[in-house]
Amino acid sequence: MHELSIMTSILDIVIRHAETHRAVSVKRIDLQVGELSDLIPDWMQRYFDFVSKDTIAGNAQLAIEKIPAVLRCRACSHEFTLDRESWQFTCTACGSSDVEIVSGREFTVKSIEIE
Ligand SMILES: [Zn+2]
Repeated sequence: MHELSIMTSILDIVIRHAETHRAVSVKRIDLQVGELSDLIPDWMQRYFDFVSKDTIAGNAQLAIEKIPAVLRCRACSHEFTLDRESWQFTCTACGSSDVEIVSGREFTVKSIEIE
């Protein structure tokens, strides 16, 4: 399952980092998630709880920050961020609708809080 494999790879990153710092538990994980990813925060926490149980990250809270998607126009090469309100996939410079997604589907572990 898509979400499970993502949460498993996030858990791997977190555990590796926590072990490097000899942590006894992970309290909080700050994640940045591209606006166009289909990950739903409530589900991410649920899946994370599932994959992390019996690990030092078992009680960690996820803090999820959505980051804007970046689009590029194929007609004029203009790059722009996707407007959260209008959700328009048209170039803000020339009005072309021939645009591609530069970023917006990725996720990164920004920081973790350990003790
Ligand atoms: Zn354009």
